Amino acid sequence: MAYNQPLGGNEMIRTGGPATFMRLPTQETASGLDACFIGIPMDIGTSNRPGTRLGPRQIRDESRMLRPFNMATGAAPFEHMQVADIGDVPINTFDLKKSVDIITKFYRAVLNDGAIPLTLGGDHTLTWPILRAIREKHGPVALVHVDAHADINDEMFGEKVAHGCPFRRAWEDECLINNKVYQIGLRGTGYSPDDFNWARGQGWRVVQAEECWHKSMVPLMEDIRAEIGDAPVYLTYDIDSLDPAYAPGTGTVEVGGLSTIQGLEIIRGLSGLNIVGCDLVEVSPPYDPTGNTALIGGNFLYEMLCVLPKAVQGD
Ligand code: MN
Ligand code: MN
Repeated sequence: MAYNQPLGGNEMIRTGGPATFMRLPTQETASGLDACFIGIPMDIGTSNRPGTRLGPRQIRDESRMLRPFNMATGAAPFEHMQVADIGDVPINTFDLKKSVDIITKFYRAVLNDGAIPLTLGGDHTLTWPILRAIREKHGPVALVHVDAHADINDEMFGEKVAHGCPFRRAWEDECLINNKVYQIGLRGTGYSPDDFNWARGQGWRVVQAEECWHKSMVPLMEDIRAEIGDAPVYLTYDIDSLDPAYAPGTGTVEVGGLSTIQGLEIIRGLSGLNIVGCDLVEVSPPYDPTGNTALIGGNFLYEMLCVLPKAVQGD
């Protein structure tokens, strides 16, 4: 079978052609795909700086330098998987509550087509409706959540749906396997110790950023891999987990974050697991004048593709 390939740099200059993720072909649905890239151009769930509605398009543009082979890991995802960019979820930009239902419905169709969704965000509200669809297909999942923030608020401004609440909602909806939830990179100022300890009280493992400083993430990921075992696992990667020196183009910046090297170690450390979906959220192009934040986001999404089961095991 001939799989879709990213358009090569010797076929069309990299700044030319349609700006799809990795310059992959597009199609309207996930039918026939093993994995697909999906944009959610949404920022109406943000609480501080806006702009993530522009994230998916900028990540696609900055993904144009990505080549098919992973020189570090040896992964060749386009030799084993049918992959395409299926465009954006048509959210309602005047209604966040309607938008989360639109997202769940969209992902239900993608999952019913048998494709693994890789999502370009978009504010972090979007992970909750994706996890609702994932639960219908796979049951509760293990969660690897990389972020500066816990995103477990019960509400913000009295609202249950916001980018600081997705994992509280996912917990309420029993989307998660509580002894297989990992929050990595949390830091900054809070209102009380409970900001991080509520999660620990549910059996989740919280690895604060300070525990990651000056260290390789490889031993941590070995532990996490062993604990997750055969369970289905979802990866949600908030770009603000990275230090603002690397990724300033985001809405809620915190100092003392992870390096891009640590981010790569975390994603590559999931290789061999039963990954059922991934997202990369909170890229805000108006605060990303060099494009580096979106470029890192694009690279991380490619690394996620490279650790999907079929990319690792072949077909
Ligand atoms: Mn977040
Ligand atoms: Mn965050």
